[in-house]
Amino acid sequence: MEQDCIFCKIAAGEIEAEMVHEEEDVVAFKDINGQAPVHVLVIPRQHVPNLEAIGQLPDAVAKRLFEVSSEVAEKLGVDESGYAVRINNGPDAGQEVFHLHLHVMGGRKMGMP
Ligand code: AMP
Ligand code: ZN
Repeated sequence: MEQDCIFCKIAAGEIEAEMVHEEEDVVAFKDINGQAPVHVLVIPRQHVPNLEAIGQLPDAVAKRLFEVSSEVAEKLGVDESGYAVRINNGPDAGQEVFHLHLHVMGGRKMGMP
């Protein structure tokens, strides 16, 4: 766990979040500032700051991030209407939290920015 990482603290249960899915290595919770009717963040429990560091995750965990994204979309009823899965990586993408996370967004048309 990285000190002062808000998502590490959410994964550890030290900061509250509206959990959507929890398992051994991956958790999903509602974005605190949702930009769509469905807006969930899917994270590995292990701290990795960005995509450049994804190789630090076991392959199975990296894969689970995508599988859980799909499962969350189904659970929240947007699997058929569709949804966007987005990673903001680095300054031009506006990355604010440096713990890798996938945004799962749906419930409205999700165009390219
Ligand atoms: P980004 O790093 O650009 O992908 O943005 C970080 C995302 O995390 C934003 O959409 C925030 O609304 C969200 N966020 C920040 N703090 C929390 C929190 N405590 N609980 C849930 N979502 C959060
Ligand atoms: Zn972290």
